[in-house]
Amino acid sequence: MFQRSRIVGRAIVTAEMQVLRCPVQISLLFDRRLSTSASPPPSYPGSNSTVPLKGIPSRFEQLQRLKSDDTYDVLIIGGGATGSGAALDAASRGLKVACIERGDFASETSSRSTKLIWAGIRYLATSAAGLLSKNLFLKPAETIKDFWGEFMMVVGCHRERRYMLEKQEHLTKWIPIAIPFDKYIVWPPPFGHPLFALFPLLAPFVLKFYDSLSQFSCPPSYVMGPQQAKEKFPQLSHRKLKFVSVFYEAQHNDARTNLAIALSAAEHGAAISNYVEATEMLFDGKKACGVKALDNMSGDEFDIRAKKVIFAGGPYTDLMRKMEDAEAKPAVQGASGSHVVLPGYYCPSDMGLLDYNTSDGRFLFFLPWQGHTLVGTTDKKCDAETSASAPEDEVQWILNECGKYLSKDLRVRRSDVLSAWRGWRPLAADPHAPPGAPVSRDHVISENPESGVIFIAGGKWTTWREMAEDVVNRITDKPCRTTEIKLLGGDGYNKNMPIRLTQKHGMGVDVAAHLSNTYGARAWDVCDLSRPTGLNWPKFGVPVSSQYPYIEAEVVYACREYACTVEDVLSRRTRLAFLNSEAAKDAIPRVAEIMAEELGWSEDIKASQMESAYEYISTYGGPVPDKAGASLRSATFRDIIEIFNAIDEDGSGFLDRTEVEHAATKLGFPMSAEELNAAFDEMDTSHDGRVSLEEFEAWWNGADDGGLREKMHNEFSFAKDIDDLKKVGGGAMLG
Ligand SMILES: Cc1cc2nc3c(=O)[nH]c(=O)nc-3n(C[C@H](O)[C@H](O)[C@H](O)COP(=O)(O)OP(=O)(O)OC[C@H]3O[C@@H](n4cnc5c(N)ncnc54)[C@H](O)[C@@H]3O)c2cc1C
Repeated sequence: MFQRSRIVGRAIVTAEMQVLRCPVQISLLFDRRLSTSASPPPSYPGSNSTVPLKGIPSRFEQLQRLKSDDTYDVLIIGGGATGSGAALDAASRGLKVACIERGDFASETSSRSTKLIWAGIRYLATSAAGLLSKNLFLKPAETIKDFWGEFMMVVGCHRERRYMLEKQEHLTKWIPIAIPFDKYIVWPPPFGHPLFALFPLLAPFVLKFYDSLSQFSCPPSYVMGPQQAKEKFPQLSHRKLKFVSVFYEAQHNDARTNLAIALSAAEHGAAISNYVEATEMLFDGKKACGVKALDNMSGDEFDIRAKKVIFAGGPYTDLMRKMEDAEAKPAVQGASGSHVVLPGYYCPSDMGLLDYNTSDGRFLFFLPWQGHTLVGTTDKKCDAETSASAPEDEVQWILNECGKYLSKDLRVRRSDVLSAWRGWRPLAADPHAPPGAPVSRDHVISENPESGVIFIAGGKWTTWREMAEDVVNRITDKPCRTTEIKLLGGDGYNKNMPIRLTQKHGMGVDVAAHLSNTYGARAWDVCDLSRPTGLNWPKFGVPVSSQYPYIEAEVVYACREYACTVEDVLSRRTRLAFLNSEAAKDAIPRVAEIMAEELGWSEDIKASQMESAYEYISTYGGPVPDKAGASLRSATFRDIIEIFNAIDEDGSGFLDRTEVEHAATKLGFPMSAEELNAAFDEMDTSHDGRVSLEEFEAWWNGADDGGLREKMHNEFSFAKDIDDLKKVGGGAMLG
């Protein structure tokens, strides 16, 4: 006898709706959850590809399997790195597996990472800082245990990084990362411990130790002098550079790795599908025995039954847990991190940079990725949302931090931002742990003793395989096999594939390299779908967007790899929206046309798909800032130049007292002579009676103190561009 528990709360529905971009999908949710009308939801036929890939059932077949009366050994909810990994692990151990994802695979956190398979240099530093604190004397046993736990986690990350690089070589590569030092002693010290004031001197040794944790399987870390650094990383500011330490991490295309894991799970027999959402739990007595599922593309509702249910909802795990128990204590905290994408010329194509000591203590990575420069932060704690939109404050903070290391003639401008997005890292704690149980530093696996539902959350992209192994070990004694498995496209791949693709299919060199790094040996199948360009060279591979290596054949292939929406193709199957939001918008009509042909969409569906894609891709940042609600306290250098130039009435390149006084008056807060002198003297740090652009920038980025700076910040935060700036302040502002 099945009983159903359902979450129908406006807050929950609203949060869930944010992920569903397509108007058809949103109306479906309304029909299903909020309306009392019995009329059936609009159907969305033709969204399922019926064309199977070699060895992998089509999405249509997968839905048929999920809708069947079968009882699965395990049902996994969530198709990010964690859920897809668990599905692959369980299926490869011979279990009968179902796995559902409410959006596209990797549509949330797993496509919005820094793209590093990293072994945890930061954790090594913070755990050492913990060990060397006064707690070592106050609580020695606990402190040593904490350090050891953290240290073993780093060792685990090294093992997983090695596995990814050696076994999944078509999806991963080494990336050298430079840490520039312009002083030998840093104060205040990074990582919260005075010993790290010596970090510049210690770094080469710390990094050698870091290499040793991989048993030296990584390329060795090394040190570059200023001259070598100038040749290798000409974009760096070399003015005060003392030396640069270089170490290695692995890099990947996260959304592609996620899809490769999900499709490999399908290859091993899992019934897995995207756009299928768990909406209610099914219970047999108190034990969970499955879920009620909603196909977000067609509106079909059906039950999926399983002996065991695993939640792998990343930062949304608590929402899933509410389906099981409306009173469930929170277990997963979100921590947001934003990234901006800049043109590739800001970074060498084969070396990144790490700022370990940003103005607010976060790490900042500056990495070459897919021909562009990816700059992003580690995270800030806040509740998880689903929108990709990165707050303008964060974008500006990132751009300002970049300026610290780049050569002065390479100031990053706000208009250089090609795309910007953010994600929420799941940080988990075990709500079912007995008092006194050790606190996990990494992923948490917890089983509800009443319902038997297990959740897994936390961890990192790097540890997806280990997390999957740990959670599946909870439900079977069969041995884990994932270390032996090459992900989709890995079998038959070798490093010469780009050359062979170019020779056989007449592909451009960049297209061939992109196809082999994305699809591995399956790139041959993509090439078989490619159309002639009509040019002398390249002969095949019509581009989706000029200047990007994505070709139209990939759109057709993506449909067979379960892509259902135009946004799927532009965000995750290709990474165009992540790399260049404007170029992605331009590509929407053509992608929609190809998908409509492949999936048999009507004109209405095509139009609705295009509208949703425009709407969703507009949430990614771009060259035009959306400053609504943002504070320009940390304005970009370009913003500051514009403000400076607007105040500099005589265009001398310097501000004098009169110009500052005029600016304040025009902004609507005239100053007394005393106030003016105080503000001006604070700006004029060289005490030469005039304020240079550099002095103005330093002053602008100082802390608000209720005086002129704060008033200016407040005024300018409402302005969108310099024309607006000139109007702020009741009319003819700033001349
Ligand atoms: C800014 C940032 C940078 C990062 N950088 C790195 C890095 O460089 N290296 C690294 O190792 N790690 C990194 N991480 C961490 C890593 O990205 C995450 O640990 C990992 O992606 C989490 O995967 P997940 O599957 O647990 O969560 P998610 O990817 O969020 O997957 C959960 C899925 O559950 C689905 N879902 C939710 N509710 C339902 C439902 N009712 N029915 C069906 N499906 C549902 C969601 O749609 C979602 O797709 C970073 C994280 C952030 C935020």
